[in-house]
Amino acid sequence: MERADLIVIGAGMTGLAAAKIALEGAPERRIVILEKSAGVGGRLATRRSPPAIFDHGAQTYPVMASGIWHEFWKRSGRIDEWTDPEGVRVGSSRAGMTDLAKHLSQDLEIRKNTKVVRLARSTDSWNVISETGEQWESTRVLITAPVPQSLELLKSSRISHASGLSQLVYDPALVLLLGLESSPSGSSPFIPPKHPPILSVTDQEQKKVSGTAAWTVVFDPEFSTRYFESDEIQVKTLALREIRTQFPDLNIRDAQLKKWRYSRPQQIWPESAHSIEGNQGLVLAGDAFGGNGIDGALRSAKAAIALLFLS
Ligand SMILES: Cc1cc2nc3c(=O)[nH]c(=O)nc-3n(C[C@H](O)[C@H](O)[C@H](O)COP(=O)(O)OP(=O)(O)OC[C@H]3O[C@@H](n4cnc5c(N)ncnc54)[C@H](O)[C@@H]3O)c2cc1C
Repeated sequence: MERADLIVIGAGMTGLAAAKIALEGAPERRIVILEKSAGVGGRLATRRSPPAIFDHGAQTYPVMASGIWHEFWKRSGRIDEWTDPEGVRVGSSRAGMTDLAKHLSQDLEIRKNTKVVRLARSTDSWNVISETGEQWESTRVLITAPVPQSLELLKSSRISHASGLSQLVYDPALVLLLGLESSPSGSSPFIPPKHPPILSVTDQEQKKVSGTAAWTVVFDPEFSTRYFESDEIQVKTLALREIRTQFPDLNIRDAQLKKWRYSRPQQIWPESAHSIEGNQGLVLAGDAFGGNGIDGALRSAKAAIALLFLS
């Protein structure tokens, strides 16, 4: 069994930032990140669909609230800044939002395609067990999956938790990725939708992510909840009808559907990271703790490392 000073479950923004923070000033620490997907980033996701490229999770991050991380990403030379429809200064990577995660993950020890299914307590440490039966041992474990998935893991490990955590609910999001014959003229990546159920439209060509005309269209929680489990062809038909009503001149070449079961938390837990009572060294973190969005994930990462190494 491999030993580490910290095992992080999840290579999204929270998990990657937490590992970076834990290594600051203590490069001798061994930190292992276990990620169930084939790539890093979680809800920072970029899809290459030649000739178009789409960010289909987070589109931007707030510059001010991301502080030192913004400075770190800027050094890659791939960051563009915008003013979003709320007047907030935001940043994005022209290599796609997953590039932010990839940039963070350099020099980190990450095991991809590794889904954690159970935690077991030995005398003074945790055994972290993957679905293929691999095991890691550490006195500290940080779980950064969306809360319902984290609670499933606790349940299969027979670990009890504060009952309020079960009430943390996430909105789902249905997202349509549109390859276009040509982009409507404009200079901002943010196209205001005319009305619900379209929540946001981002022009990936204006955002400098895609070399050809491409839009990412996010549907609101009401529409996304109602049709989340529906047949994909039916959802696409309904979604395309909405888009054509609001943007009748759009010349759509192809459309792909992306579904996020856990898009954004509806409520935020009162602590930026949460220690599981009676289970020393076991901490939950993520945007449901630090606050909505990438800056919330970064805030939670910092709080989690303080709980794990300073308390
Ligand atoms: C459509 C959409 C649009 C958004 N737009 C914005 C935006 O414009 N700006 C903004 O700031 N935020 C936005 N967000 C929110 C933002 O993406 C999230 O707040 C942030 O990425 C959360 O990061 P995280 O690391 O906490 O969680 P995640 O990114 O969900 O990371 C959790 C990771 O854990 C892994 N995992 C889960 N279970 C296991 C397991 N058992 N074993 C191993 N690994 C596991 C997952 O695969 C995932 O990689 C958006 C989200 C969505 C879905």
